[in-house]
Amino acid sequence: MLIKAEPLNNLVSTLLKKGGSCIEEAQVVADHLVRSNLAGHDSHGVGMLPLYVRMLKENFLRPNQKPELVNADGSILMFDGQRGYGQAVGKMAMVQAIEKCHESGLVLMTLRNTHHLGRIGTYGEQSIASGLVSLHFVNVTDHPPLVAPFRGSDARFATNPICLAMPGTKKQPPILLDMATSRIALGKARVALNKNEALKDGLVIDHKGKPSNDPEVMAGYLFPERPDNPPLGALTPLGEYKGFGLALFCELLGGLLSGGGTIQPEHQRQNSIINNMFTLVIDPARLVDVPWMQHEVEAIVAHAKASPPTNPEEPVMIPGDPERNSIKERQFQGILIDDATWEQILDAGESLGLSREEMLNLEKI
Ligand code: NAD
Repeated sequence: MLIKAEPLNNLVSTLLKKGGSCIEEAQVVADHLVRSNLAGHDSHGVGMLPLYVRMLKENFLRPNQKPELVNADGSILMFDGQRGYGQAVGKMAMVQAIEKCHESGLVLMTLRNTHHLGRIGTYGEQSIASGLVSLHFVNVTDHPPLVAPFRGSDARFATNPICLAMPGTKKQPPILLDMATSRIALGKARVALNKNEALKDGLVIDHKGKPSNDPEVMAGYLFPERPDNPPLGALTPLGEYKGFGLALFCELLGGLLSGGGTIQPEHQRQNSIINNMFTLVIDPARLVDVPWMQHEVEAIVAHAKASPPTNPEEPVMIPGDPERNSIKERQFQGILIDDATWEQILDAGESLGLSREEMLNLEKI
């Protein structure tokens, strides 16, 4: 299924409204999901919808929530996301953090107890759009662990993402590092499963801790209702002990300092998803001269990009470049959605009472 962003956005927002979201929320979540697909992160795009519908039905995801301010102390803002759509409550919490940062120069914002925040780069993009720098550390709770610690043989953490965002200049687009601390996000195993593709070496281990290329070892996490799943394997940490260390700090900053809690086993794991986020928003103009900063940004990027590529076909890129390239390409060509994912989305829509005809008649929705 090759589909343009706009009709896909129509379908997604229609489905979300049918799931109980008001028009504004449906639009924010649909924009977030479709932009993830445009950016090349199908793992965090519209393929998440079947999971969200399942979570709605089990009351693990609650439409139309606002972040509740639980502590405001100087430059500190602490929010509770009320198990609402992370894409919506996360956006609202960031709006407040950005507004405060324009006054104080520095804000520490935490957001706990929100449903899946989606692509964390979206919140970095919000800071960038306001000329601010931001750092985000996120953990996952209420979910079985997925990622093995370095030297471990079974799953103990989630894919705990980190995002670092720096505004660009007139010549240099923003720099946005947005990554899971596992070698791949879980959704990338879902995409491989749905496409019936093997995973590259080193990305997963099986239930005995042995290296595997089979995304089926993650199927029990993704499709727990399927009767024939093999025993659970695990994703591997990024960069061995370094990624493991970063994942642990996502627990300590995102989980612990937000008050949301870590994935340690005293806490419930209902097979849902809660994200907790620790965010620093910084106004660089309070620290350095902005024209000087912009020159440095351009110069350091040019310095990195001037390195002769080992493969002439693959020049040096800067974090954020792959997503920009993908957006350009997919806005023009459309978004390719594999058959299994498309069927899962249509099934989810049907379970909410939409007919296939309605859903396939996208332009009219
Ligand atoms: P990825 O590995 O595709 O990219 C990670 C980062 O590396 C990006 O900033 C990208 O711009 C940069 N990059 C990629 N190739 C590059 C190259 N050749 N040169 C320079 N930079 C390059 O991303 P991922 O780790 O698979 O994460 C995918 C998405 O999953 C992210 O948006 C993340 O926020 C999201 N995620 C969310 C959760 C959650 O709980 N909400 C959990 C895990 C991941």
